[in-house]
Amino acid sequence: MMLSPTIAVVKPSSRIEAMPKQVFDVCIVGSGPGGGIATYALTKAGLKVALVEAGPRLRAGIDYNSHGTPFASLDQRLSKGLQPGGGNGSLFSDRRERNHFTGVGDRPDHGLLKALGGRSLCWAGHSLRFGPLDYRQWPISYDEVAPYYSRAERFMGVYGYKDGLYNMPDGEYLKPVPMRCGEQLLKRGVARLKQSGRKMEFVAQRKAMLTQEHASHRALCHYCGHCGGCEVDAKYTSANTPIPAALLTGNLTMFTDSTMTRILKSGNKVTGIEYSSSAGQVEKIECKTLVLACSAIETARQLLINDLANGSGQVGKNLTSHFGVTVIALFPELKSRDASNDDGTAYYHSLLTGLYWDKPNKNFEGTYQVQCGSGLQPRAMVVRNIPGYGASLKRELREKNAAHAGMNMQGSLLISPRKYVDLDRDRLDRFGQPLPRVHLNYEQNDVAMAQDMVETCEEIIRAGGGEVLSTPGKVTASKLAIDSNHWVGTARMGHDPKTSVVNSDCQSHEIPNLFIGDASVFAAYPEKNPTLTNIALSWRMSDRLAEKFRRGDLS
Ligand SMILES: Cc1cc2nc3c(=O)[nH]c(=O)nc-3n(C[C@H](O)[C@H](O)[C@H](O)COP(=O)(O)OP(=O)(O)OC[C@H]3O[C@@H](n4cnc5c(N)ncnc54)[C@H](O)[C@@H]3O)c2cc1C
Ligand code: SF4
Repeated sequence: MMLSPTIAVVKPSSRIEAMPKQVFDVCIVGSGPGGGIATYALTKAGLKVALVEAGPRLRAGIDYNSHGTPFASLDQRLSKGLQPGGGNGSLFSDRRERNHFTGVGDRPDHGLLKALGGRSLCWAGHSLRFGPLDYRQWPISYDEVAPYYSRAERFMGVYGYKDGLYNMPDGEYLKPVPMRCGEQLLKRGVARLKQSGRKMEFVAQRKAMLTQEHASHRALCHYCGHCGGCEVDAKYTSANTPIPAALLTGNLTMFTDSTMTRILKSGNKVTGIEYSSSAGQVEKIECKTLVLACSAIETARQLLINDLANGSGQVGKNLTSHFGVTVIALFPELKSRDASNDDGTAYYHSLLTGLYWDKPNKNFEGTYQVQCGSGLQPRAMVVRNIPGYGASLKRELREKNAAHAGMNMQGSLLISPRKYVDLDRDRLDRFGQPLPRVHLNYEQNDVAMAQDMVETCEEIIRAGGGEVLSTPGKVTASKLAIDSNHWVGTARMGHDPKTSVVNSDCQSHEIPNLFIGDASVFAAYPEKNPTLTNIALSWRMSDRLAEKFRRGDLS
């Protein structure tokens, strides 16, 4: 049985008359990866849950459709003001919020998709465990999170190889997906550098997509490469797995198209929230416990607007993300290869990792990984800047794309006082709330890390028998690009209420019935993608919350 068609969405207008006044055990705000798993875990634990989501429910394959031809819906797309990318237009670029924050400094950006499932609808599914070394600055250890990584991987359906890397531990995987030609040649370069003593690893990606039958009964992946909005639900999203399962418990009431505009408090306890429907009505939800899972920037914004849980002054601080530059390789030996369909599970199929895990680079703190891709996707050609026209242009485009490999840096951004979120009181949203202001200023550390990536990748390409087709060369802050979707750390976890916002259960130090279910709570950030850890921590938080309920601490 496929679960997602059973979703019943409660619209604010139809709900108001139908529902008797109810005090929910838990109100969860935000239905992305963090809020989605909390909804599942808490309803399964028998608690009555209200899930409040600002966006609508979008149906895979109906409300977004990445398989269509570029020309099929051109007129429609242009009339809606969308890019003429056709069916291949990405869900994220079509529907992401715009003009919803103020950026200060080095070109910050902030990704937000308002929909049931949040950005899990459009994420790429890369699911890497943080390793034991990555938890050194956290109040909890890898061993405490490991069982939740296992649960999350089994529940989501994650494919991958077991590579045996000590600081990117293996998980519980479905059948893996191999690398493609260009990536195999990068791996050859890495193997040659390793022979001369360099410490690095090159492995295939691990992603939350079904390559085998799975308990969720989602469709199997057919390797079409349009994962930014998988229209058959082979990719895990909050909307296709945990939320439908939570609905089946009978313990969930959903409020979609409903934006939380205020957190209600009495003494040092939260008593509920106010939300505004898309029609502009203001309504109230009463609850015994509140879980914020609005995303790292939006959760910090809500805490600041409501002047809540910020005795430490740390809300909005410790902001970090991933950032980087791109290097592109060309392997002449692949130019005349068979250009058959190798779309795979989108662009990135492999990963350069294992750099500076235990022996830091002398020029910078922290480390980076490099997501590597290749393959020939006719509608997503990576190498585009080729002079000429006609048959020779087409031939060169095909040859260069068939023979290329892209290397995209994902460096962990140094935490510093010059990177933080606060409120822009001069700019209000349509509910009269101040917009978040995101401050990003790159440090010399960030530039030095990116320079190392460029030099290392160029070496790997040459060692693999390739040429460097495109490189940033000498790195400056102006060449660095921020990952607008990987922000974390704005309500960090810690033992000391003076230097952290939540405890190791993701519970506010100051407001005992306030919990955080998103990546705001990260105490430090390695190079690895955030979402699997976000889901594991939110699941762990939910278990702790349910246990406190059972003990009577929260009722
Ligand atoms: C194109 C793309 C590719 C990505 N690929 C990867 C990847 O491969 N691996 C990885 O680990 N991560 C990836 N990410 C990042 C990942 O999607 C995010 O880390 C993750 O979605 C964050 O989860 P969240 O629950 O904190 O926030 P979100 O997913 O942003 O969900 C927050 C939800 O809260 C709702 N909300 C916010 N404020 C309110 C309010 N006031 N009232 C009601 N609702 C509210 C929003 O509408 C939203 O639905 C990618 C992101 C994008 C966009
Ligand atoms: S490659 Fe697989 S996961 Fe990606 S969009 Fe296609 S079917 Fe979905």
